Amino acid sequence: MNQMALDKAAVLAEALPYIRQFSGKTVVIKYGGAAMAAADLKAAVMQDIALMKYVGMHPIVVHGGGPEVSGMAKQMGIEPRFVDGLRVTDAATMAIAQMVLVGKTNREIVTHLVEQGVKAVGLSGQDGGLIRAVRHLHRSRTGEMVDLGFVGDVAAVDTAVLETLTAAGYVPVIAPIGLGPGGQPYNINADTVAGAIAAALKAEKLVLLTDVEGVRADKDDPGSLLSRVTAQEVQGWIARGKLEGGMIPKLQCCITALEGGVNRVHIIDGRVPHSLLLEIFTDEGVGTMVIK
Ligand code: ADP
Ligand code: MG
Repeated sequence: MNQMALDKAAVLAEALPYIRQFSGKTVVIKYGGAAMAAADLKAAVMQDIALMKYVGMHPIVVHGGGPEVSGMAKQMGIEPRFVDGLRVTDAATMAIAQMVLVGKTNREIVTHLVEQGVKAVGLSGQDGGLIRAVRHLHRSRTGEMVDLGFVGDVAAVDTAVLETLTAAGYVPVIAPIGLGPGGQPYNINADTVAGAIAAALKAEKLVLLTDVEGVRADKDDPGSLLSRVTAQEVQGWIARGKLEGGMIPKLQCCITALEGGVNRVHIIDGRVPHSLLLEIFTDEGVGTMVIK
């Protein structure tokens, strides 16, 4: 028997305890960034999700799509603006976000999964009343209140539609838009949505794919990856301004998820092919694990 074949067998054997541990369990995946943009990375993530489904897990996908929303906004003459990692969303930007995220991005992910033999179903937070939103009142790090427009916080999650779909063997794919008072749609950070859904479902695991190796002790030093961070450390960093941009809502959502009863929360590098597979099925420590 050649060594490569033995190595392959070892890898499969290593996966067994993880397959047993997670069989029948819910895993929420936040999909975004490079893993969504590059065709080869996209195909790898779709395979990983298909594999999870085929070994009996219940993957639930929440996707971002910020760059595509920005691209379309620019085409329509609107310059995207961000405050502390959150998109300033006027009525026109909200309409564009909805068109792009629900009409295009969500459709593409569903199509890819169906092509992999996974019965994926696309939803936005509006479907089945899944996500109720309220306007996000934003206090900037310098202390003043900033009007971000139709940027929402999650007010409530009704998981009924997700439970119905997963029980019937479907994989829900969710666009991060919530339904606000008076039927107003709100744009919600996809990490925030993933965290809230994971908490509402008491998911076994929440995995956030991003465009860095994980959380860095020094945000500009790729060599400073932290393999574990605690909720307390994160609160301190936010207070001291050590985190920037999208990492703030990302880590906040990790804490919300842990406090809400999610067992494990990981931030992993979506630029690495099959990082999801490595995280779920191997002993390899990838990215950052956030703990209570
Ligand atoms: P995503 O599409 O994954 O939500 P974001 O841009 O919203 O991506 O958030 C991740 C970004 O946060 C990183 O690409 C990085 O530029 C930034 N960031 C800020 N502080 C840190 C830190 N301490 N460690 C890692 N990334 C950080
Ligand atoms: Mg983000």
